[in-house]
Amino acid sequence: MRWRPRRWPSATLVVRVVYQGSFLALFFFLLASLADGDTRDFPHTLFHHLDPLSTLGVALASWSLPAALAWGSALLVLTLGVGRVFCGWICPLGTMQQLASFLFSPRSRRESLEVNRYRRWFALKTYLLAGVLAWALLGSLQTGLLDPLSLSARGLASGLWPVLPGGRAVPGGWLAAALLVAILVASRFVPRLFCRALCPLGALLGLFARWSLFRIQRGASSCTQCTLCRFACQGADEPLGAHRASECHVCLNCVDHCPEGSIRFRFLGRAPVAPEIPDLSRRLLAGSLLGGLVAGPLLRASGGGRGEARAERIRPPGSLPEMQFLDRCVKCSLCQQACPTGAIQPAITQAGFEGFWSPVVVPRRGGCELACTRCGEVCPTGAIERLTAARKTGYDGGEPVRIGTAFVDRGRCLPWAMATPCIVCEEMCPTDPKAIWFERIDATRRDGSTVALQRPLVDPQRCVGCGLCENRCPVGEAAAIRVSSVGESRDPLNRMLLGA
Ligand code: SF4
Ligand code: SF4
Repeated sequence: MRWRPRRWPSATLVVRVVYQGSFLALFFFLLASLADGDTRDFPHTLFHHLDPLSTLGVALASWSLPAALAWGSALLVLTLGVGRVFCGWICPLGTMQQLASFLFSPRSRRESLEVNRYRRWFALKTYLLAGVLAWALLGSLQTGLLDPLSLSARGLASGLWPVLPGGRAVPGGWLAAALLVAILVASRFVPRLFCRALCPLGALLGLFARWSLFRIQRGASSCTQCTLCRFACQGADEPLGAHRASECHVCLNCVDHCPEGSIRFRFLGRAPVAPEIPDLSRRLLAGSLLGGLVAGPLLRASGGGRGEARAERIRPPGSLPEMQFLDRCVKCSLCQQACPTGAIQPAITQAGFEGFWSPVVVPRRGGCELACTRCGEVCPTGAIERLTAARKTGYDGGEPVRIGTAFVDRGRCLPWAMATPCIVCEEMCPTDPKAIWFERIDATRRDGSTVALQRPLVDPQRCVGCGLCENRCPVGEAAAIRVSSVGESRDPLNRMLLGA
């Protein structure tokens, strides 16, 4: 028997859909408007500042709390009041899944009852939460890998934007897009499967929702056990049986669908009954904590690359020293989306396992504009500090912020290797005075003719590593001048000459 929806949606449903649609549209708009325009025009970091998982992760990893992230506690307070209302009404990834589920999975009522059933393995999200928090405690912040806000922003910034007109390809973008698409496709089979089983933010909110003041409550006397509430449930609450406050997304579908009016969302609903929520095995929980505690050192030992400098690990200007940077970066891709030149790309191998998908500057794709400070303006966690243009360039009287140093590859450089005149890199160099200067010579060609050449040399005292030279170098494939992270301001040990 296929269940037929009512002809008119209820007022609650309309209001919720309006909220969900508005928050989803806002999320898209903030991300889209980040690609151009003034970063101060809109609160681009709004969603990320409200994310208590980022707040907790950053606090555990760095033993500090950026003031803006304290807003995350507001969401916990809201959850203590009305449960996981964020999941049901605000979360953009939740709304996208709900939409996918609504559009692509027409089911009979019996099938819906089956897929809406709570399963013990939905507790996986709580084990994942325990694992990433234990990992953070050891100073490796990986909460962003599964955080729904970072995950959505990554999927859209790296997977969707590049295919829109004017978009720039992002290496590995397909990975972020594929993950997002897989989550949406999974909703075809189990509504909001990611929220139910994998979302560590949902798990965190679920822990607080156990004590929420407002809850779903079913009046057993008037209930006819018609199962319409279970059929309509968006979470895995099973409102007909043991109400699981920690699984309830407060979609209020059960209230809406109950023909007897037996289900209400009320102040001080009854306390959760067995099975105790979340339905956890102590052994597995201990295993998750232990896994998180050993995973960090293991990954670090097998190429984490935290301590030692890496040539291609060029961080955006204003980035904290590497250890602190990795304690703060939640891999949200906002800096990547805000970079006007496409210089910031997700690190696939450049920053080791721990730095996977953290931002690196790839000069061949885009140079860092001299006076641009957009990445620091939008970083929600302070992994990249806010700089003024004067501070970045050193026009305030201090040292300019360096992200690396350019090196001429004399084997590829046209004047050096092929007796062919070229001055592009010097022309592109934005510093004043220029970091690239020339050695002038008259070279004899193979046919005996002479040619006046200007061979580029780099003054490491002037070079800020912006990469505009590398970006515009006309030599195909690998440029003849390339930037390495050596000399970066944030790491006094990453120096060209020991002791310099
Ligand atoms: S400061 Fe450089 S890396 Fe950061 S957004 Fe601007 S151009 Fe991109
Ligand atoms: S550095 Fe970039 S990816 Fe990391 S938290 Fe800041 S804005 Fe997000």
